[in-house]
Amino acid sequence: MDFLDLPQAPLHPLNLPWLQNAKVEVAILRLDLIDPLISGNKWFKLRHHLQHAHESGAPGLISLGGSHSNHLHALAAAGKRFGFATAGLLRGHPQDTPTVRDLQALGMHVHWLGYGGYRARHEAGFWQPWQTRYPGWHCIPEGGGGLAGAQGCGLIVAQARAQLAEIGWDDYSAWWLAVGTGTTLAGLVLAEAGAHDVHGALAVPRDHGVPDVVMDLAGGSGYQLHDACRGGFARTDDELLAFIDACERHTGVPLEALYTGKALLALREQVEAGLFAPGTRLIVLHTGGLQGRRGYL
Ligand SMILES: *Cc1c(COP(=O)(O)O)cnc(C)c1O
Repeated sequence: MDFLDLPQAPLHPLNLPWLQNAKVEVAILRLDLIDPLISGNKWFKLRHHLQHAHESGAPGLISLGGSHSNHLHALAAAGKRFGFATAGLLRGHPQDTPTVRDLQALGMHVHWLGYGGYRARHEAGFWQPWQTRYPGWHCIPEGGGGLAGAQGCGLIVAQARAQLAEIGWDDYSAWWLAVGTGTTLAGLVLAEAGAHDVHGALAVPRDHGVPDVVMDLAGGSGYQLHDACRGGFARTDDELLAFIDACERHTGVPLEALYTGKALLALREQVEAGLFAPGTRLIVLHTGGLQGRRGYL
């Protein structure tokens, strides 16, 4: 397999009592199932970076993230799979998490920046010592953001549309997905070009600068954002964990508590508040991220 051939994510109906009560139909696009290691939306976000690195003959790829980062995990796994070197610049001081162990086992060069060092990532000159240390390597912005990441995510729309007939739908009303940097949402908005609305459930507080990418890339229209972070990124609470548990038991679809669980709980709140008219058909994007669950569940 080539890194340009993104695996097809399955689309299937999602039945939950609160959806049935509101007569809202949901199909879920399972990016969590595309690969056992290269999980979720991160492969789509990496696709163009991998292509650029390949075309420019870069010896490796380098990026940044935290000690549970789904992005670094996907990058390390893709590097191992497709045969290129990877380096990860991590936030904070050395920690032994399941994700970090995987990064090392997948051959990633891991460097710990501390907290101050990590905060400097947007400063001019940040990359310079790393470019000296890893000459010619392709640098990927934190989280795989930016235009290249968004363009890769546009392919998600094509994957869903190709499967509508199989679930007996001729069309859909809108998308629902978890938002971190907003890159995946921007990709959907770009690919939809106004054909269908995109609803983003914010897994990070609204003032974290998330919508910037979205505004720039998506032109500020064609999407709506909903608060879903429940007090902060990576904060969890009993109601959320119980909701995830009940959803999993009901549907068999695994969720994690940072993004997909919060997105689905925010959907329930909006459905119960009557945001969607009876007969609305939504595609919920399962963005993956299940590897990160080992850190806290
Ligand atoms: C990274 C991630 C997101 C957020 O994606 P963005 O493109 O940064 O908005 C959502 N869900 C999961 C599971 C993720 O790992």
